[in-house]
Amino acid sequence: MTTTLDRPAPIKPNAIPKVGIVSLGCPKALVDSERIVTRLRAEGYQISPDYSGADLVLVNTCGFLDSAREESLDAIGEAIEANGKVIVTGCLGAEPDVIEKAHPKVLAVTGPHQYEQVMDAVHTHLTPPHNPHTDLVPESGLRLTPRHYAYLKISEGCNNRCSFCIIPKLRGDLVSRPIHHVLIEAEQLVKAGVQELLVISQDTSAYGLDLKYAPQTWKGEPYETRFLDLARGLGSLGVWTRMHYVYPYPHVDKVIPLMAEGLITPYLDIPFQHASANVLKAMKRPAKQDRVLERIQQWRRDVPDLAIRSTFIVGFPGETDEDFEVLLDFIREAKIDRAGCFKYENVAHADSRDLPDHLPEAVKEERWHRFMETQAEISAARAAAQIGTTQDVIIDGPSDETGEYLARSKADAPEIDGVVYLKSDTPLSPGKIVSANITDADAYDLYGQVL
Ligand code: SF4
Repeated sequence: MTTTLDRPAPIKPNAIPKVGIVSLGCPKALVDSERIVTRLRAEGYQISPDYSGADLVLVNTCGFLDSAREESLDAIGEAIEANGKVIVTGCLGAEPDVIEKAHPKVLAVTGPHQYEQVMDAVHTHLTPPHNPHTDLVPESGLRLTPRHYAYLKISEGCNNRCSFCIIPKLRGDLVSRPIHHVLIEAEQLVKAGVQELLVISQDTSAYGLDLKYAPQTWKGEPYETRFLDLARGLGSLGVWTRMHYVYPYPHVDKVIPLMAEGLITPYLDIPFQHASANVLKAMKRPAKQDRVLERIQQWRRDVPDLAIRSTFIVGFPGETDEDFEVLLDFIREAKIDRAGCFKYENVAHADSRDLPDHLPEAVKEERWHRFMETQAEISAARAAAQIGTTQDVIIDGPSDETGEYLARSKADAPEIDGVVYLKSDTPLSPGKIVSANITDADAYDLYGQVL
């Protein structure tokens, strides 16, 4: 995902230093960009919507897969060519030698979530405006997402050591934000008009472990810094709350009743990555997946409209035909509603590079196609089952293609899941939640009429 920022025109266009931003990578990187933008605006910098109008360009990079690293290096090159003054931050910034070798002209390189260092680099190369109060920053900060939904980052880093992943090497161990800080931020976002909160981290269900689940107070009530209390607090705000990057630890079961009560959106994003015990062991995945099918079935009994999104890797070193069949059986039996699938990639510095039995590209390719076909059948059956139902949907905006509205059901997270194409006799504004009759479906998307 690439995002460039476009913000209101400056009060005195020639007097205010302007920074352009390119944000690459996952929602977590987007949240980092939002924090940097908030700091820049708080100090009176203007954000430029294009390279040519900027005095300096900040590139927030992604370093997860080799393809993302290439994309990041290309974006840096493009910014240097178009503007000349470039500061690099983000995951790839943890490897300054790679960046400086490819682009010796970059002014500075900082790593992921090094907000202070980024600001220092900006100050060094672009003198801050004299009056830090020329631009007022809303209490909720500045966001790169539309006004009606917002990502809520609850922690940085990860204590797990999955063999294919370099995120702990880039971002370090788990550092949770105290629960009252998170809940105060969420409350401010809701006051600013947000209707949907998307909880993100590297491992949401491990939230608070590093803080020994420290007790805090919010609105006069006690809350421990842990996943269940977070869900309880967010659930009291009366907006949709979607949980991303949840691992199937046993305590996740306790959040299901909050979904049954309608406090938390019935949606779980659980990156299973695989289902075969052999492959999961080689991947060094957290949270045992024994009995996971049984638990999913119980969750679905308790919350019949629960949607489960996941991601999987096929063609992991040592994955046999049998392991792959176990994976296909799992997604069929668990009826995974939405799934992303990646062919295993030998990421630089990942431990999995040293595993034996790497598979030929042709095998990975063939398995990827079979996975996608199987998942398409599961998703299509799920979508078809929605026809004739009445559901609450949130409006994202008008659809360019059809003249209808683009909306999402509770089963659809923005950017990664499907949409609902909606007909309405009256105008609808983004963020409005309306009741819709679902009239048709294709493999991933729904079609409906506002009631
Ligand atoms: S849980 Fe595993 S895959 Fe996810 S960030 Fe941590 S180490 Fe990486």
